[in-house]
Amino acid sequence: MNDQTRPLTQTVDGEAVATASQEPTQLDTQPMTVQKLVDEYRVIARYFNERWPLPDHNQRVFARTMKVMEELGELSDEILTSMNLSRDSKIAEFSRENVEDEFADVLACVISLAIELDIDVEEVIRRKIAFTKERYEIKANS
Ligand SMILES: [Mg+2]
Repeated sequence: MNDQTRPLTQTVDGEAVATASQEPTQLDTQPMTVQKLVDEYRVIARYFNERWPLPDHNQRVFARTMKVMEELGELSDEILTSMNLSRDSKIAEFSRENVEDEFADVLACVISLAIELDIDVEEVIRRKIAFTKERYEIKANS
């Protein structure tokens, strides 16, 4: 069974029960700041580092960088599929959710890399937005 055919409800003795995806969690209902996003991935990164430990920082940076590239490839593949530039069987299974999932994977991997590199994501994004607006003379709120 692939993701597209996964039922939205599970049953126990014929009774529908809520699945995790149907129950709004605190993550679903609270505003998501950049810091909150990074904090969530910091928890996930800690788990991954314990579950699949790598002996040193450089190996973790290498692994996180390769994961960014892997997920970019998967996102590219889904975008090609959205443009009917894939094999027919893949086009037949296409859904926008696939693109969104791969986009989220890319973002997750970039954030995981930032965590390993001790990059303050919010700070560097603020700096880069200011730089871009200044370079192209983009006025505030335009
Ligand atoms: Mg992926």
